Amino acid sequence: MSYQAEYIWIDGTEPTHTLRSKTRIIADAKKPELWGFDGSSTNQATGHFSDCVLRPVFTCPDPLRGAKDVLVMCEVLNPDMTPHATNSRAGAAAAAAAYASFAPMFGIEQEYTFFQNGRPYGWPEEGYPAPQGPYYCGVGGAKMPGRDIVEAHTLACLRAGLAIEGTNAEVMMGQWEFQIGVLGTVEVGDQLWVARWLLQRIAEEYGVDVSLDAKPIKGDWNGAGAHTNFSTKQMRAAGGWDAIVAACEALGTRVSEHIANYGVGVEDRLTGAHETAHWSTFSYGVSDRGASVRIPGAVARDQRGYLEDRRPNANVDPYVVARLMVETICGAAASARTRPRARAAAASTSRSVAKKAPATPARAARAR
Ligand code: ADP
Ligand code: MN
Ligand code: MN
Ligand code: MN
Repeated sequence: MSYQAEYIWIDGTEPTHTLRSKTRIIADAKKPELWGFDGSSTNQATGHFSDCVLRPVFTCPDPLRGAKDVLVMCEVLNPDMTPHATNSRAGAAAAAAAYASFAPMFGIEQEYTFFQNGRPYGWPEEGYPAPQGPYYCGVGGAKMPGRDIVEAHTLACLRAGLAIEGTNAEVMMGQWEFQIGVLGTVEVGDQLWVARWLLQRIAEEYGVDVSLDAKPIKGDWNGAGAHTNFSTKQMRAAGGWDAIVAACEALGTRVSEHIANYGVGVEDRLTGAHETAHWSTFSYGVSDRGASVRIPGAVARDQRGYLEDRRPNANVDPYVVARLMVETICGAAASARTRPRARAAAASTSRSVAKKAPATPARAARAR
């Protein structure tokens, strides 16, 4: 029996890469094999040397087609089988391998905005809807446009076997969120990209576009982020608090490199208003939604768990943010282990924050 395999990959469009896909009829229920495409039509090659290779990295049931049909997330390779310049997964895979002993885990909150006719879905033709306030987790009336698409997408993710965790309506009318996790360094990217593809594909049926723009409407309207929640084995273990604080401190040592890779338009979104910290500063704190990095209240209470980096944009590449967090946090922890003096310094910082944290929101603000 033949079946359909939808091969999905990330293109080379600038400044934000977008998804592409095409269908391959496969003769028998074999594992999807290597395939190729014309890179000159996706900003990934010149016309004279245009073949790019698709290598399947994650396969799941296609919830929109027949029982045996599949979605096939791919990475892009050059003809010599080296990673293509646009292949950010390769770097994430290398970081995951280098720091496997930390068992890094991720959950990403994907915010997005539905658009139709050049404006957010459900917005009036002229002017604005009622100001923000009733939309976040709202219900009822005409104020929740897009819920039918959200419902269809959630069901599709479940049928595909993706690790979707939940959904919610966001602060701006027409803006929504879903969460994917808890998954490893490359797996979270594989599944988030497939979930993004499904969202766009399903929204097609409604004549609606999905925008991952970080600040779709300027002014007093919330932007769209991709809060990235992170933990290591050490952070999750009993007494992981010191490792959590050390992770926050490590993020504070590489602020500009992270910000530069956290998605297009990060300056428009991280203004210091609308539950964000200014992009040029770094801070972390317990339960603090105005900090760059938030340690959830329950994590402070249990003294173990994860941190939430609130800075990544909705349009961030999850492979990139995952690689950076692993390199920065696990890299610092690994070198603290091998350098006793650095370790002593890190431990003294964590103790001073650790004392305050459960009682008052600890916040280490620093101009940068
Ligand atoms: P909020 O909106 O309050 O920030 P959400 O419920 O939307 O919270 O998202 C919480 C995220 O935290 C989820 O994506 C979940 O996967 C993630 N998470 C929970 N536990 C861990 C963990 N141990 N390591 C990494 N991420 C985690
Ligand atoms: Mn959330
Ligand atoms: Mn949110
Ligand atoms: Mn969040």
